[in-house]
Amino acid sequence: MIKKVAITGGTHGNELTGVYLVKKWQKSPTRIKRSSFETITQLMNQQAIKEVRRYIDHDLNRSFGLTDLADKTLNSHEAKLAKELDGLLGKKGSKRPNVDFIVDLHTTTANMGLSIVVSNKSIITWRAIAYLCKMEPELRVYRWQGDIENAFVDSIAPHGFAIEVGAVPQGVLRADLFLKTEMLIYHLLDYIEKENSGDKLELPTELEIYDHEVLVDYPRDANGDIMAMVHQKRQDRDFMLINQGDPLFFTLENKTITYEGEPRYTLFVNESAYYEKGFAMTLAIKKRVLIKD
Ligand SMILES: [Zn+2]
Repeated sequence: MIKKVAITGGTHGNELTGVYLVKKWQKSPTRIKRSSFETITQLMNQQAIKEVRRYIDHDLNRSFGLTDLADKTLNSHEAKLAKELDGLLGKKGSKRPNVDFIVDLHTTTANMGLSIVVSNKSIITWRAIAYLCKMEPELRVYRWQGDIENAFVDSIAPHGFAIEVGAVPQGVLRADLFLKTEMLIYHLLDYIEKENSGDKLELPTELEIYDHEVLVDYPRDANGDIMAMVHQKRQDRDFMLINQGDPLFFTLENKTITYEGEPRYTLFVNESAYYEKGFAMTLAIKKRVLIKD
């Protein structure tokens, strides 16, 4: 039984869709009210939202590792904030968490369309995703297992995932993608209401997902500066196949660097926030996974 759901926005202060959806629901909470559970909203990094920056000191959405949360010596803006938010919405790993399900709202400058980023293995999380895929056939699912420990916001609750919608520039609201994100949340709340009521739900028994394999960095010089950009023929080709020999990067000398590897799907192609993280895109494998009852 899900008793409490948290919808979180502004984990990254320059991703306005989540910020303004939370503001919308704080103005009219009946939109997210359902009878069998409580829904709360939270603006996560308020200082970063004010400054329209991704973060103040470092990425909040990588700050929820158990070791970091327990480390009292960490006192950066986001380290302190993560502990505060974990107290409010966690605690992470607790048998009696304050919130059962977290959905964290993001946008990306990559052409990701309407997508879910999930690391959680819980059956409720995956049944929710199966329901959303049924309701929104354009929704795509990216399973991220690239870190040793999941340090995302949604990891502090037993169930949850992030929604990533793009392409949206940083600091910009786009009504079309705003409305699609909003609709996805209403479907999610409806799903939880049905699950709580014990209704027999007709869900897909298997789902097509994109499973994370590896991050691809830009070609860099000895000083770490990038020497090429994402190739014009790869730009915007998120969730699309890349084959051996396909154009990948385009250098400042007008040379094409081709992809050398097994056929894969490219995701988060040319995401602005990832230049500093050291990757130009991620490669994923398309799989079908079973959704158990
Ligand atoms: Zn984000």
